[in-house]
Amino acid sequence: MNQRLPVQGPQGDLLRLVATGRAESRAELSRLSGLAASSVSLRVEELIDAGLLAEEGAGTSRGGRRPRRLRLSPGAGVLAVADLGAHHVRLGLLDLSGEPLVVEERPCDITDGPRRTLDRIADAFDELLTEHVPPGVPLRGVGTGVPGPVDPATLRVVTPSRMPGWNDFPVAEHLATRYDLPVLVENDANLMAAGEARWWPGTENLMVVKAGTGIGCGVIAGGRLHRGRGAAGDISHVRVRSDSSTVCACGHPDCLEAYASGAALMTALAEAGVTVTRPADIVTLVNDAVPEATSLVRHAGRRIGEVLTVLVNFFNPDVVAVGGSLSAAEPLLTSIRAAVWERCLPLATRDLKIAPARAGRDAALRGAGALLLEAALTL
Ligand SMILES: [Zn+2]
Repeated sequence: MNQRLPVQGPQGDLLRLVATGRAESRAELSRLSGLAASSVSLRVEELIDAGLLAEEGAGTSRGGRRPRRLRLSPGAGVLAVADLGAHHVRLGLLDLSGEPLVVEERPCDITDGPRRTLDRIADAFDELLTEHVPPGVPLRGVGTGVPGPVDPATLRVVTPSRMPGWNDFPVAEHLATRYDLPVLVENDANLMAAGEARWWPGTENLMVVKAGTGIGCGVIAGGRLHRGRGAAGDISHVRVRSDSSTVCACGHPDCLEAYASGAALMTALAEAGVTVTRPADIVTLVNDAVPEATSLVRHAGRRIGEVLTVLVNFFNPDVVAVGGSLSAAEPLLTSIRAAVWERCLPLATRDLKIAPARAGRDAALRGAGALLLEAALTL
């Protein structure tokens, strides 16, 4: 089986149309790719021979003879993806349609620096592949999300907060020493947005706020992830109004992150004599109606909402989805909504949905899969 060769170029385009569920017959492939039916058939045969596509008897009938249904062969390959947080990493193996085959979470301290952290991720990928993927099924790409800004041109992390040793580290190059494959490195909120987008079909313009230890936002514009020059959606260092002055980890006073991130709330709780170790603990305190926690979360939501009013007026999205570990605290979403509805233009909010993120805990992994598939099949 020649499993490396035919996944790029025209074959890659056909494979991607099947993998993303847009085509399930030769006729649909011909229509969507613009290739002649004979040319599609030839390439489909090659992809079947290479063990990448399989064809089944019954497809969706549109009258007349039922077309045979094309699907990805389970042997077509897997993607290994990670979502790196401050204290843990979520790891997954996905099939080429982006469905997780196995997902697990391991403790991992990002302050150990990039080399140790990335080697730990690669070791974990290798273990998962050995354990869960039959020999002969190829790995097609690896990717990781990082909780900091990523330059899309160099795939290096640029001036991240709370990631000592990571600034300008060549993350992709380091992973490429272990894998001679397409490597994806992306900001975690961008990955979450890419994963979330599939759960809002028909939604072209979407903002996905990640409220966890830090605060991030990913932007889907015109149905595609908008990276800008790498910093698009980074709302963490937007200045907010404040009576007192708090200096952010970036050195500037009064950044959103210094008031509304999980890290900031944990510091504030510690000062009030309440010890918590992760943002999820704050959610537990809110659910237990601990007044300090509820009040802090409400203020955080208010401040995030104030920043979003500018963005909603400016970008005018269809949906603002709020995810991340802190988003499970109900007052956060309520306060964000209140701020946006109070201050935004009626035309901007008339059909706007501000809602909990739908894609769940694997959003970033699924987003990584979608972006990596694109890279793996178009190189
Ligand atoms: Zn800052």
